[in-house]
Amino acid sequence: MGRAVRFRGVKATPKTLEKDLLTKASKLASNPSLLIPKCEQHCRRCGYDKLLKKMEKVAQYKDDAETLQDLATRGDQLVRAYAATISLAASGKIPFLSSKKTPEGGDVSFAVRGKVDAEYLIGVQHFDDPDLRLLAYFQDAQQSDLHIYSSPEGLYCSSDGAQAPLDYSKEMLATAPYELKADNSCGHPEAVIGLMIDWRSAKINIFICQECADEVNLLHHLLSRIAAREPWDDFDIDVRYSPRCVADCGACRMKEKFTMSKGLKESYDKGQVSDVMLLSRYTQEREAHLQKSGGELYISGDECFGHNKEAFLARLKGNEAELIALSGVVRNKPMPIISVNDQAGRIIADLWPQYKEELLAQVASPDIVKSILASPGNLTPPQLVFEARRQELSRSIISRLPDYALKGPIGMMADDLARSFKTEGKSAMVRMLDRNRPRETRSKAVAYGFLVAVGEAESHNWQYTKEEIDFGRYLGDFVQTLLGAEGNDYDQALHNLLTACGANEDLKRK
Ligand SMILES: [Zn+2]
Ligand SMILES: [Zn+2]
Ligand SMILES: [Zn+2]
Repeated sequence: MGRAVRFRGVKATPKTLEKDLLTKASKLASNPSLLIPKCEQHCRRCGYDKLLKKMEKVAQYKDDAETLQDLATRGDQLVRAYAATISLAASGKIPFLSSKKTPEGGDVSFAVRGKVDAEYLIGVQHFDDPDLRLLAYFQDAQQSDLHIYSSPEGLYCSSDGAQAPLDYSKEMLATAPYELKADNSCGHPEAVIGLMIDWRSAKINIFICQECADEVNLLHHLLSRIAAREPWDDFDIDVRYSPRCVADCGACRMKEKFTMSKGLKESYDKGQVSDVMLLSRYTQEREAHLQKSGGELYISGDECFGHNKEAFLARLKGNEAELIALSGVVRNKPMPIISVNDQAGRIIADLWPQYKEELLAQVASPDIVKSILASPGNLTPPQLVFEARRQELSRSIISRLPDYALKGPIGMMADDLARSFKTEGKSAMVRMLDRNRPRETRSKAVAYGFLVAVGEAESHNWQYTKEEIDFGRYLGDFVQTLLGAEGNDYDQALHNLLTACGANEDLKRK
């Protein structure tokens, strides 16, 4: 969390801003205690009582701009900032304002007088803004190890460790990036996976389930108005992951205590990872931990299947290629798999870095595996598995079809369409036909015959004459036979189709 503000330049002061700032300055001139945090219990280490006394002395010069500006050049920063700010009211005008970028990214305007750190000037001149005013307290909080809380209701101080005031915790829960229910959960307190935040001094336990978790950092929000050395020191962060055991697990290893890594906890504390990312990295760490200690464990979503890999595999969802690839690898290798859902594709993506060769080898020959791995393009792991199986299937189909040394134009079209249908399916074949639509009546009739054979004729009627349609309907049966044939039968069927359509073309096998 960068707390520093960056300089943005100097501008003439807009009238409304000037009036607003002068009003605030005179409020402060008559009441310096507006800048003093309320101390929780007995506050021994904070010096705010003493600072108040000094500010009261400064306030005696509230009509003397020159003396105030002089007082703004020495002593405590907060007192200097106070003198500088009430000097604005004394002089009655603010011709120019400086502006800086705040840690949150907005621009903030303030008047520079005396010798005062910008953070203090901004904090004091925006003492009615719960976010900006904290800038005047970060440094003291660091130096004196205080916890200072800012809410719209007020400013609070504790020198005795974290001590979240009720005002503060209420406000932060109400403005949280989740709509929290009365039990401070997302509404799914029973969920198997989720983020748990224990806010110790506030005695509040928050739970956000995996489904509701978002690309935000809830902790960062809760501590966003705390000034302290380590504002997260009042919060215990943990993840609940307690799937139901649906197979006989014995002493289920998911019941063991597991603590996320220090690195992950720190990244979360500092707002560098989101709630979603925390949950997913926790799962990865947990899986890696189980892997290190060996053995098998299969978890899909909220169910634990223990060692029962067949029950686990039966539960997975995905296309045929994914299921074949994943079951093959899981059956061959004892391993722990923790998946937050039942999607085979997702598990393939998780296993990919370590098992890509094995996964692909379940669905394709070694040379296809090699070429897929050599140029994966931008396909995802499940798409690569699908592609490997597609290539393998099309190769085995093609190996069962005759090779031709000589084909005429209609023979070529029919052979191409039939191969496309056999290797990539109906829609690929229809696309091929749409891309290269024949022009001459006999070819068009054959093309229509293919559409009839795969049940796609009706939607294409407008492209054909009545004569072509009638002829094509007759050819449909011949095409149907061709699409179902292999080897010599295929050759015979192609000859028959050419004869039936009256094409006088050569067709010779290699
Ligand atoms: Zn205090
Ligand atoms: Zn939820
Ligand atoms: Zn279990």
